[in-house]
Amino acid sequence: MTSEELLYTAKELLKEEITTIAYDTWIKNMKINKLTDDTIILVAESDIHKDFIYGSYLDLISNTFKYITKKAYRIEILSQNEIDAVEAFDNKDDGDSNSDSYNISNLNPKYTFDTFVVGQNNNIAQATALAVSENPYTKYNPLFIYGGVGLGKTHLMHAIGNQTLEYNKDAKILYVTSERFLNDLVYSIKQKSNKTELFRKKYRDVDLFLMDDVQFLSGKEAAQTELFHTFNELHENKKQIVFSADRPPKDIPILEERLKSRFNWGLTVDVGLPDYETRLAILQRKSEEENFIIDNEILKFIAEKNITNIRDLEGILNNLIAYSSLLKSDITKEIAEKVVNEISMQNEKIITPDIILNTVSNYFNLSIEDLKSSKRSNEIAFPRQIGMYLCRTLLGLPYATISKIFNRKDHTTVMYAENKIKEEIKTTKETKLIVDSLTKILNDDKA
Ligand code: ADP
Ligand code: MG
Repeated sequence: MTSEELLYTAKELLKEEITTIAYDTWIKNMKINKLTDDTIILVAESDIHKDFIYGSYLDLISNTFKYITKKAYRIEILSQNEIDAVEAFDNKDDGDSNSDSYNISNLNPKYTFDTFVVGQNNNIAQATALAVSENPYTKYNPLFIYGGVGLGKTHLMHAIGNQTLEYNKDAKILYVTSERFLNDLVYSIKQKSNKTELFRKKYRDVDLFLMDDVQFLSGKEAAQTELFHTFNELHENKKQIVFSADRPPKDIPILEERLKSRFNWGLTVDVGLPDYETRLAILQRKSEEENFIIDNEILKFIAEKNITNIRDLEGILNNLIAYSSLLKSDITKEIAEKVVNEISMQNEKIITPDIILNTVSNYFNLSIEDLKSSKRSNEIAFPRQIGMYLCRTLLGLPYATISKIFNRKDHTTVMYAENKIKEEIKTTKETKLIVDSLTKILNDDKA
């Protein structure tokens, strides 16, 4: 099957799974960019599409491809903008390969302080972020921003980068997610030779280092060590460092103490949930940006719903824009209500045993086969017990069913695991953190 045929088949299946309006808005124009042994790269029309697809349809899309190909591909989604930027970057690189092309790479120009709505939930984070871009390398080094999904952490990090460029167009800025850092590191180690040198140059020769979602480094020992040294070198050379995570440093499990202590050297700020006024201000601002004319009463109606993930608010607005252009009429309260309900429903993720197996194996960097195997070493037995415990507490499945899922002969193993983890949660802080974060990952709309 060619990649185009694959995409076509996937779209036909996806059409059946979601509402027509959602399909037309988000999926219909999606393209395929690349199909490799283990990855499918899709292209979304815009950054908004990309964010929304990531937030709402990633699991569905990835399961659909799995269903067709009988193989678990990693799905990556890029926006058309990003593809264009990369192409421009590559072309430019042919000519002069030097310094100033550096910055096009990975800052999203739309995520600026100008487009960031300040409210009671984020004013401190916004103010310190701005201070860091105006006056880097001071006492806020590193700046550590934490908060839940869709609350503007990534936006703020890019804003710091973009603002720094305003003041100094030659500043070398590097934005990475911790996953990207990890992948880069693994790749450089695999390639041996001079790749480690290149890796170090890339990460250490910068003026501003922005690392998003550091909680993913939990349990990733090699990456933590590398980050520790990267941090030291940057800090010594008075370069600004900014981190984000979904929780404060002290609550990130399986993280080296020395790194945790570095995270706390500067200032830690949080972004909280937006209140009614902030939600309304965000809705107003976004509709203005999109030149979308909508009755303020409708915006108030949406703001009253207690939707605190700002990405979801954007999703609602985008759906409304799609509705109004399709229906060629103004948005009524009924339509708004329908769209709000659709988004809320999509977010009620159903947890299944497979999802638990997947999440636990990802979290501990093991394969599902390991979890189901008879191996008894603690590196495998402990995650397995955690998995059994989660099947019990989150799904309430009978012991016998769980023992089948984990390929055990005897359901007393499951009883034992449940008791053991239950006790350990009371006595061992680390176990409690692991169970809490897995529960959180499983309950969040996006892993
Ligand atoms: P996080 O990284 O915390 O999960 P993001 O920074 O990706 O969240 O934000 C999700 C979406 O919501 C982005 O499109 C972002 O531009 C938007 N957003 C978040 N906070 C704000 C804000 N205060 N003002 C305007 N847009 C925001
Ligand atoms: Mg983010």
